[in-house]
Amino acid sequence: MTTFEHALLGITGTIAVGMHGRYGWSIAAMAGAAAVSPDWDGLSLMFGGAAFDMAHRAWGHNLFVACLVGAAVGAIDHRWRVSGRVRRWLAAWIRMPNSQDHRAPWRGHATIWMAVGALAALSHLATDLVFSGADTAGDWGLKLLWPLSDQAWVYPLVRWGDPSISIILFGGALAMLCWPRHHRPTAWATLGLVAAYLARGLC
Ligand SMILES: [Zn+2]
Repeated sequence: MTTFEHALLGITGTIAVGMHGRYGWSIAAMAGAAAVSPDWDGLSLMFGGAAFDMAHRAWGHNLFVACLVGAAVGAIDHRWRVSGRVRRWLAAWIRMPNSQDHRAPWRGHATIWMAVGALAALSHLATDLVFSGADTAGDWGLKLLWPLSDQAWVYPLVRWGDPSISIILFGGALAMLCWPRHHRPTAWATLGLVAAYLARGLC
C-alpha cells in the first residue's frame, strides 16, 4: 500500500465505526495521518541505501513505536488542532466539503484520540504485512518486535502497488463525499470490498 491508501484506510475505518459522528470530522483526518505515520522510517533513505535497508520496516514498523507515534499524532491533533489548521490552509486552494460540526470538531477526551491514533497506526502494520513485494523485488518483512527481536514477518496476499485497492478506497471516499448522509454504510462497503479483494489472495 502507498501512503495515499494507508491514509484512506485510516479515514474509512474511523468513519465506519462511527467515530466521525461522535467526535467530529477531525478525528477521521487525524486517523488518516496516524495511519501513514509508521512510514517515517522511510526518511532514512536520505542517509543512503544502507541506512534505508537497516531502518525501513523496522524503526517505525514495530508494534511499540507505531503505537507510540500513532498515539502522539492523536494527542498533538487534539491539543493543537492541527487538522483544523490544515483544513483552513487547504480551503484557500480548494473547495472543501461542508461539515456540520465545523466549529467544534475536537470533542472527547485526548485519550480517545490517542487510542484512535494508535489503532490507525496499527492498521498500517496490518496492511503492510499482507500487501508486499513488487515485480522487481521480493516480499518485505516487518520487524514487529524491534528492537527486542530482528525477526521479520510477512504474509503476502496482494502485490504492493496493486491499483485495485486504490480504486476501491478512492471510489469509497468519493462516494462518502457525494452522499455524506450514508457515509457509514459506504465506509463498511468499502472495507468489505478491500477484505474481499484480500481474500482472493488466500485462494
Ligand atoms: Zn509502511
